[in-house]
Amino acid sequence: MNTIITIDGPSGAGKSTIAKLLAQKLGYTYLDTGALYRAVAWKVRHDNADPDDSGRLQDLLGKIDITLSENKIIVNGTDVTSMIRTPEISELSSKVSAVPAVRKHLFKLQREIGLKGRVVLEGRDTGTVIFPEAENKFFLDAGPEERGRRRYKELKGKSPEATLKETIDGIKTRDERDSTRQSAPLKRTDDMIYIDTSNLTIEQVIAKIMGSLKIA
Ligand code: C5P
Repeated sequence: MNTIITIDGPSGAGKSTIAKLLAQKLGYTYLDTGALYRAVAWKVRHDNADPDDSGRLQDLLGKIDITLSENKIIVNGTDVTSMIRTPEISELSSKVSAVPAVRKHLFKLQREIGLKGRVVLEGRDTGTVIFPEAENKFFLDAGPEERGRRRYKELKGKSPEATLKETIDGIKTRDERDSTRQSAPLKRTDDMIYIDTSNLTIEQVIAKIMGSLKIA
């Protein structure tokens, strides 16, 4: 399991940027696990399904087909790559990700991709639930205000109606839900290397990770 690298942490901690760059540097596959939850949320929204109706969700999971290819995410033939990045889908993905049936469904998909090896997985439970046996686990963190500022910068172009305060509030709400849910909550464990990215550049974070990798 030494070619599986997991990076967990709250939203806006820099996981996607870092995981993508790290995968590029190493020639590994990059798996953005949050995009899978976002894909399910998009389908829930698209089908006008009630996220609290477990029967309907189960039915939807039986029919959903998620494909990841060349940085694109396709749901039942529709390219949803940019549509899954709105504040509405962020909120809904955090809701549907607390549903055990959704996690169970996506667990299989993530294991299948990861078991091919040479992969960087990034999310909330990649080192605790998806690949607890991975030998290279990291936890990226930063204060909520800093994370909110980063998310706001990303969002501004795409969602001009977003405000900094709403973005920070949204992050806090999702943090709370992601950390306190029953099913696979966001958790930092002793076997993860903890990195606070608040005052670090991207290059500094990458250097820290590269310096502590145990890969053959
Ligand atoms: O990382 P991102 O913000 O794209 O994730 C969207 C949502 O998906 C998160 O708020 C979280 O609730 C959920 N998620 C999860 N487990 C993961 C990755 C994401 O529950 N491994």
